[in-house]
Amino acid sequence: MAILKPSLVKATGIGMTSQRTRERMLTRLREQGIKDEVVLSAISAIPRHIFVDEALSIRAYEDVSLPIGFGQTISQPYIVARMSEILRKGNTLNKVLEIGTGCGYQTAVLSKIAAEVYSVERIRPLVMKARSHLRELKCVNVKLAHADGNMGLPQLAPFDGIIVTAAASHIPQGLLDQLAIGGRLVIPVGTDEQILYLVERPSKFDYRQTKLEPVKFVPLLGGTS
Ligand code: SAH
Repeated sequence: MAILKPSLVKATGIGMTSQRTRERMLTRLREQGIKDEVVLSAISAIPRHIFVDEALSIRAYEDVSLPIGFGQTISQPYIVARMSEILRKGNTLNKVLEIGTGCGYQTAVLSKIAAEVYSVERIRPLVMKARSHLRELKCVNVKLAHADGNMGLPQLAPFDGIIVTAAASHIPQGLLDQLAIGGRLVIPVGTDEQILYLVERPSKFDYRQTKLEPVKFVPLLGGTS
């Protein structure tokens, strides 16, 4: 019997993390209404089990959020797919900003649907965790920043897509300012009850908000740790 190096076992997957299990996840996403083939193939290309602790990898392809430490979670595959689909709206994305890297799962999916991805996380050990996962998957078009995402990344603006993966009490002005003309911002807003919003910016002074659906995210906090 061949003895695999632990890193190889992790990257190739065993048992419940097999290709078949991953295909079942894609079938479920289609049944849940995800239609964008570019998003579906990005999800299919990213092994979700490498983003969670080995003890949880058996559950990595279930449609649930899972703990990643520091009181944070990896998002549910459905919501990652849904937000990516809304952000893309069938178009090619050039420069995308994500607020709330966590373990980097959504970031990795974005790296397959956008030319350049910038992602901001406020908890330093999570930035390091995400960096190692993204390196393992060779997501070379991604840059991570340890910062308070409420400010966005003004030095790199404008972004044609901005995605916030933690629930904000209000839409941060900085993010609205950093949205390119024609750009799209997807953000969960609310405390007890959260709603996913889409903000479009058809022209410089015109922002259009659409309420999409109820969601459940960890809160968008301030400062760094
Ligand atoms: N995108 C992740 C979801 C991570 S959960 C995924 O694909 O699974 C949300 C993350 O947002 C947490 O890691 C949390 O620390 C981070 N976060 C919360 N407030 C933030 C802020 N102001 N700036 C940057 N990151 C923030």
